[in-house]
Amino acid sequence: MAHSRGNLFILSAPSGAGKSSLINALLTKYNDMKVSVSHTTRSPRPGEENGVHYHFVTVDEFKALIAKDDFFEWAQVFDNYYGTSKQAIEEQLAAGIDVFLDIDWQGAQQVRKLVADVETIFILPPSKAELESRLNSRGQDSAEVIAGRMAQAQSETSHYNEYDYVVVNDDFATALKEIETIVLAKRLSLQSQAIRHQDLLVDLLR
Ligand code: 5GP
Repeated sequence: MAHSRGNLFILSAPSGAGKSSLINALLTKYNDMKVSVSHTTRSPRPGEENGVHYHFVTVDEFKALIAKDDFFEWAQVFDNYYGTSKQAIEEQLAAGIDVFLDIDWQGAQQVRKLVADVETIFILPPSKAELESRLNSRGQDSAEVIAGRMAQAQSETSHYNEYDYVVVNDDFATALKEIETIVLAKRLSLQSQAIRHQDLLVDLLR
């Protein structure tokens, strides 16, 4: 069976909507899906590993990568730079692996201009109160940072209508199933199936 090129998905959400947990659960379940590891100039949070959660770089290193045209997209989010390197996605897509970009609305806008074939998903928290409580329960940021993130969350959420799909993360298992449904539907598209099953189709139509 021939493999088709992998599909590209973008997941965006306000901080605290549970995007990372949903992506992790999805990757645990499917070994032919990967999340692109971004570069960032922010400091690692406890438990974050260089090369796994992000490639942690200095501002100078980040700017050098911009100058070398190494980024597929990049943006300033909060006070830091974040970017997806071309290398982080191209090899995987060519190998038939579906790639998820965990990026913000600015990155999503850039990617939409670069590739027509991208499915974009926006994840919403179930309520503002729940979002605030999730941001508080992380216990890693100061009250000032949390207030800033709530304002940032509203600004990120104002872009929900630029996305193809919207998933509300109230019940985790339901939200996961909904994202899976989007991914599996894309895999069943004519474009993918015609390549994957070309031998079958040739045989049936001979
Ligand atoms: P955090 O610092 O909480 O890991 O991420 C902050 C925000 O930056 C999130 O909305 C995340 O999706 C976004 N982000 C992470 N990596 C990238 C990237 O490579 N490009 C863009 N444009 N945004 C990113």
